[in-house]
Amino acid sequence: PKKLANDYVHEVYELIKKRNPGETEFLQATREIFDSLRPVFVKNPHYIEDGILERITEPDRIITFRVAWEDDQGKVHVNRGYRVQFNSELGPYKGGIRFHPSVNLSIMKFLAFEQIFKNSLTGQPIGAGKGGSDFDPKDKSEREIMRFIQSFMTEMQKYLGPDLDVPAGDIGVGRREVGYMAGQYNRIRGGFQPGVFTGKDPNYGGSLGRREATGYGTVYFTQEMLKTNGMSFEGKKVIVSGSGNVSTYAMEKAIELGATVIACSDSSGYIYDENGINVETIKRIKEIENDRIKVYRKYHSSAKFIEGCQGIWTIPCDIVIPCATQNELDEDDATLLIRNGVKAIAEGANMPCTQEAIDLFLENDILFAPAKAANAGGVAVSAMEMSQNSMRLSWTFEEVDEKLQLVMKDIYDNCLQAAEEYGYPGNLIVGANIAGFLKVANSMVSHGI
Ligand code: GLU
Repeated sequence: PKKLANDYVHEVYELIKKRNPGETEFLQATREIFDSLRPVFVKNPHYIEDGILERITEPDRIITFRVAWEDDQGKVHVNRGYRVQFNSELGPYKGGIRFHPSVNLSIMKFLAFEQIFKNSLTGQPIGAGKGGSDFDPKDKSEREIMRFIQSFMTEMQKYLGPDLDVPAGDIGVGRREVGYMAGQYNRIRGGFQPGVFTGKDPNYGGSLGRREATGYGTVYFTQEMLKTNGMSFEGKKVIVSGSGNVSTYAMEKAIELGATVIACSDSSGYIYDENGINVETIKRIKEIENDRIKVYRKYHSSAKFIEGCQGIWTIPCDIVIPCATQNELDEDDATLLIRNGVKAIAEGANMPCTQEAIDLFLENDILFAPAKAANAGGVAVSAMEMSQNSMRLSWTFEEVDEKLQLVMKDIYDNCLQAAEEYGYPGNLIVGANIAGFLKVANSMVSHGI
């Protein structure tokens, strides 16, 4: 059975390498999953007969489209829009929309693929998708962003619906952008359509606690992991990369639990203050003033600003929560962090650590919380937003936060249990991949080929 499983995984990986040439991020994400799943195929060879791996790595469909829009000067621009509807075994396609110049098919597919396992782990009835555009919202006026989104949604709305596909935000897409998307959807489809987007403003059906959910959830998950190992956030020095939605609320919760966050970053550099970063100032800069992290020194002269974001990993600390973007932390960064005594890593962003960095952390017994599990809080509360929209009611912040804590604890327990059952005790990466996979694979078997 072991040889059969190994041969199967190898064969399918070769197949998808050939089928998806040059899709580095997508192949990186599939490889990591495949490595974890071998023990599953040893124990349950019937998945091999059902061709589960070939089927789960091929999206249901991929939609790409032209987005033409006019800037404030009347110049016409064209961007490319994407929606990858990867898997709908457990519910409507669910996953964010990313606006960033790096967006391409490989990145969209890796994100949608990860979403399959993440969404399954939440225990909620949601399938997996992801979308976005290579549009760069940086330095665009508010009206330019609105016009771009209206053009983007004019095409994309054909493929969405409350029981079909429900997008949310991601990098470059926050509450304001979700508002413009929902507005255009309503305009075209007619009437008020609740439950087609999540991450909405609570004024028109958004869930309280959704904004905080990803960051808080990452910290709740990490707290469980630390607890199992006799540690806590109390008195710890924490570094959080990024300064967007995930990062801000991860900092807020870590501070609330007694940690000192000594550094955070954006794409131009990082700020460092041994006495602790003030998260209210970060919110003011990022959420109200829409400015760069550089201006933090205007409010707190004790902080240093250092240009370039890679240097953030040279600072000695106890806990690292990378919340910026994929592959932001590599082997060299990991080596330095380990040398400086880091005790735990929790991925707030999607796939922020390279495979080589992860291998180093594991070899050195550093606690490691993988993204699929640790950052599932955002999409979990999105599913709660869908429930509230269906019931036409809204829960209080406290109710949502309590449910989020329960979900994160469940995810942690399930990961730990799956890891134990399949012979990798304590390995949360293997645990998350297996626990996430089983539910989807079993639904695929139930639904037939
Ligand atoms: N973009 C977030 C994620 O990666 C949230 C998705 C959602 O809420 O649908 O999970």
